[in-house]
Amino acid sequence: MMQPENQRRAYLRAMGIDVWLPRDSLEDEAAPPDASVNVSPAAMDWEALRGSVSACTLCGLSQSRTNTVFGIGSADADWLIVGEAPGAEEDRRGEPFVGRAGKLLDEMLRAIGQRREDVFIANILKCRPPDNRDPKADESASCRPYLERQIELLRPRIILAVGRIAAQNLLGSDEPVGRLRGRPHELGGIPLVVTYHPAYLLRSPSQKNKAWQDLCLATRLAAEYSA
Ligand code: URA
Repeated sequence: MMQPENQRRAYLRAMGIDVWLPRDSLEDEAAPPDASVNVSPAAMDWEALRGSVSACTLCGLSQSRTNTVFGIGSADADWLIVGEAPGAEEDRRGEPFVGRAGKLLDEMLRAIGQRREDVFIANILKCRPPDNRDPKADESASCRPYLERQIELLRPRIILAVGRIAAQNLLGSDEPVGRLRGRPHELGGIPLVVTYHPAYLLRSPSQKNKAWQDLCLATRLAAEYSA
């Protein structure tokens, strides 16, 4: 169990703040690092949460990532979009959905009158799995408290889960997207709608009309929701 003082220093370090210490405490400082940055996100504000994610070493993906991908958008967003995990371009840039699938996601949002900067976009994982493989259970579990805290801080009116990985992880289900989409779900009292991943829609454009129906459902649920 970490001492409160060490925990405080770990928070500050995770946020990129230099910690000045009296000379006689240097011995303590020289102690081997523990999992000090991996403290519970449950009470963190946005800044501390961002710092904690960028310093996270809870799973093996921390070894291979270039950048963590915290998520992007407005802290006042009504819409939270949740995807799977960063790909190569997202890992390079530290921003979610910046490739071709991201462009299509932007168009889908525009179709319902939302801009990327008005919503919040995050993923089940904050780090890229090598070769874009599916997230492993332990990786999703390690990352989950970060997303949960983002949801608590945002308190969105609607969560849109794009693709199988996001839908199954958020809903604790193993049903295929085709069966989860097209109907309302909820997560902690917040309405949740499942739709196809934009990367899938790029491969199967004939499914775009179903994605449009899902977006209309999400729009209606967001308007009806009263926290
Ligand atoms: N696919 C995702 O699910 N998330 C991203 O950030 C990029 C591609």
